[in-house]
Amino acid sequence: MKNIVLLIIFTMMSLSFSGCRQTEPREEWAIVLHGGAGSARSMAPEVRDNYLNLLDQALEVGTRMLQNGEKALDVATRVVVWLEDCPSFNAGKGAVVTSDGIHELDAAVMDGSNLMAGAVAGVRDIKNPILAARHVMEDSPHVLLIGEGASSFAQSMGLPPVDNSYFSTPERLEQIRRIKMKKEDPDPKGTVGCVVLDSKGNLAAATSTGGMSGKRWGRVGDVPVIGAGTYANNATVAVSGTGHGELWIRRCVAFDISALMDYKGMTVKEAAREVILGKIDKMEGSGGGVICVDKNGNIAMEFNTGMMFRAWATASGQKGTAIE
Ligand code: ASP
Repeated sequence: MKNIVLLIIFTMMSLSFSGCRQTEPREEWAIVLHGGAGSARSMAPEVRDNYLNLLDQALEVGTRMLQNGEKALDVATRVVVWLEDCPSFNAGKGAVVTSDGIHELDAAVMDGSNLMAGAVAGVRDIKNPILAARHVMEDSPHVLLIGEGASSFAQSMGLPPVDNSYFSTPERLEQIRRIKMKKEDPDPKGTVGCVVLDSKGNLAAATSTGGMSGKRWGRVGDVPVIGAGTYANNATVAVSGTGHGELWIRRCVAFDISALMDYKGMTVKEAAREVILGKIDKMEGSGGGVICVDKNGNIAMEFNTGMMFRAWATASGQKGTAIE
């Protein structure tokens, strides 16, 4: 009898103990990337297919690295370098043009494991701004370097300068010509970003952009502003944004998503929806979107524009690319 009573007590204790410790299952790894958001416009099927294919190629780069056990920070940085080198996106080669006909680039990276961050803004001659941002984070006591100071630091870190014309493509030059002739609106889109959860449970976010086409020279958007366009915290989420940067800065979009999860216990999907559809949507301006991955590998991709170029994959086999 005594043994039976002891057994019942032990069983009840272990049940309640395991109940307390029950945690949400975690994906071994997860990755989401974006190639910008913008208003819906008709795209020739071959153009659309080409974009989906490029997104898939970038995803493959990151997925392989994660399968090999590489860390979130390296994966996010590498994927953004790939997207910066691809002339079809508004970052690195293919960046949009300012009203003065030059390219000025912004980029940021954040490591969720220690809340370290690095960013560059308004740079004109760094081939891969995301690599400069990474150096700011790892090799300087600062978070954000701008313009010539950022370029000089990047060179001291071994990143060779390129001529500003390196970033130009015929499409971008035509775009600014049309904007100046008032035949096209300056549409905020094409920025690139990547958020990653690695197999050690670390989160990272990286974002890079040429900014908004036709912007005033010297204008800095949300991307290099930590907590606006880029944020990562192992306790909550990694976020990379794209869209009308001024709204993202004023709303502290990326940090707000993390804060809603942290303080209100929202899921990543609820938090991303609340910020993009509940808050940004109610402001003037054209909006945009965010990609997020939380500490358990749950993904959110929320946008209030007609399109957000995106791709995602997880260790358990979720995988896709989409635009609308
Ligand atoms: N958010 C970027 C900026 O405002 C633009 C974009 O995402 O396309 O600089």
